[in-house]
Amino acid sequence: MNGTAMRFAIPNKGRLEAPTARLLQQAGFRYERTERSLAVPVLDRDIELLFVRADDVCELVTDGVADLGITGLDLVAESGADIEVLAELGYGHCRLAAAVPNTSPIDSVADFEGLRVATSHPNTAAGFFGDKGVTVRTIPLRGSVEVAPRLDIADAVVDLISSGSTMRLNGLRPVIDLLASQAALVRQRGAAEIAEVDQSVTMITSVVAARHKKYVLMNAPAHAVGKIRSLIPGFDAPSIVPLADPTMVAIHSVVDAGAVWDVIPRLKAAGASGILVLPIEQLLL
Ligand code: AMP
Repeated sequence: MNGTAMRFAIPNKGRLEAPTARLLQQAGFRYERTERSLAVPVLDRDIELLFVRADDVCELVTDGVADLGITGLDLVAESGADIEVLAELGYGHCRLAAAVPNTSPIDSVADFEGLRVATSHPNTAAGFFGDKGVTVRTIPLRGSVEVAPRLDIADAVVDLISSGSTMRLNGLRPVIDLLASQAALVRQRGAAEIAEVDQSVTMITSVVAARHKKYVLMNAPAHAVGKIRSLIPGFDAPSIVPLADPTMVAIHSVVDAGAVWDVIPRLKAAGASGILVLPIEQLLL
């Protein structure tokens, strides 16, 4: 470990900043960030948060300056560093795509041969086309990649897309995806085991796991338990709790959040009543 505290590098601005702060707070990291502060101690823990650009997280983790980091998988790929992805965090979803102006006839990877490709991910772009035996000239740009064809700096772009509206707005048409990305928890591969790192990973991954689940409680006639169990296989056997009325039971179960609204009408049809759907704060598997 460097110095005394474990150092945890997280994005200080941009798309990953707010959802990362939300995740850390839900996970139980308490800190007071003042405007522009780079290093902020976590209250009651031997952890220092380093607020840095998302692009710098990989470098800090590889250099051993930070013991843990949060950044985009696209930036991990672009850095080319030997970084271990400990967990995908379920936000910051986007894809890195090669796109051309709407008017361009280009339709396949091979059609990119000889083109000038503007991109904020030059290593990934060069690697992708190189692997396919296609030679392109990458034009590295930090931002505003999507305006490069209009300015005639480039014939095509390799850029991040989430909804696709920025590309559409700039008259660009995605042709092929290079990779899919989301925010991830990362560290230097082979880094020494540190208790604070392990504990932080558990705190964070338990929040991410809980976001995909709901706690569902209901009352049901005792004779309907078999039918209801078949409707909520869940990740674990449900708890069946007796009620004052011996013909009735309470059933508690953890259900996939995405399936809840499909399952509820079927639970009702099977005799369930008084159904409660509760969020789960943290889930340790
Ligand atoms: P930013 O700091 O806002 O430039 O973005 C940092 C990271 O946010 C990117 O490297 C991606 O991992 C992620 N991201 C998610 N959606 C998008 C998007 N539509 N455009 C750019 N970055 C995105």
